[in-house]
Amino acid sequence: MKAIDVANLSYSYPNDMVALKNISLSIDEGEKVGLIGPNGAGKSTLLWHLNGLLPEKSARTACVHIMEIPVLETNFPLVRSMTGMLFQDPDDQLFMPTVHEDIAFGPQQLGKSSDEIDIIEQGVLTKVGLSGFERRHTNELSQGEKRRICLAGLLACDAKVLALDEPTSGLDPRGRRELRSLLLKMPETMLIATHDLEFVVEVCTRVIVIDGGRLIADGLAVDIFNDEGLMLAHGLERPHILRHSHPH
Ligand code: ADP
Repeated sequence: MKAIDVANLSYSYPNDMVALKNISLSIDEGEKVGLIGPNGAGKSTLLWHLNGLLPEKSARTACVHIMEIPVLETNFPLVRSMTGMLFQDPDDQLFMPTVHEDIAFGPQQLGKSSDEIDIIEQGVLTKVGLSGFERRHTNELSQGEKRRICLAGLLACDAKVLALDEPTSGLDPRGRRELRSLLLKMPETMLIATHDLEFVVEVCTRVIVIDGGRLIADGLAVDIFNDEGLMLAHGLERPHILRHSHPH
């Protein structure tokens, strides 16, 4: 099944800033795809379309489908339960005082009982490697822990598709390593917008390049990263960890 399908998506902000121009892409269930491009390329704007945070102007036909469901206002509750958005800054995402309240919020909205919520919470905390953190205050966690609690919150809503915006920003090397091994273990479909190209090499086999709101390239990470002309033309640099391998 296609987990994410975007067909001819264009978007202008209310100030007439054209942020996306005719973007089409399709991502299969279980794929982990890197979304790269310079600042202002349109990466966040594209991610925000996946769960209707930026609604399309024409509300009759959808350019975006998640698990084959059109991202239209009537489907927002369903689409939003399936599509977890990890914001760039975890402090924008964590809004309850404790880990427990934060993780319980989504399942409560979905009508789960408190017994069910306890089971879900234990499960997702174990998954992200933070069992026992229930009573911790969210503002007293490290950046890496905050990001993992955000992921746990998305998993608690049973999100099958994850849109991750700069997931490694602000992480120290250990936090980054822990996040990498966590994402590698997770079966969910992921679209990961980032400037951290080393992270893309480690986590994603496929990469999509956008620049100026247009889709520039979509292919295997090794092929794209080894295409020096393409990388330089779009303000990108070949990741160091590929430096020792030979371009082909
Ligand atoms: P990226 O995530 O790749 O850095 P963005 O999606 O944030 O790019 O931005 C794409 C373009 O849209 C940029 O030119 C940016 O200035 C513009 N933009 C982003 N958010 C807004 C907004 N709220 N209002 C107007 N223009 C915006």
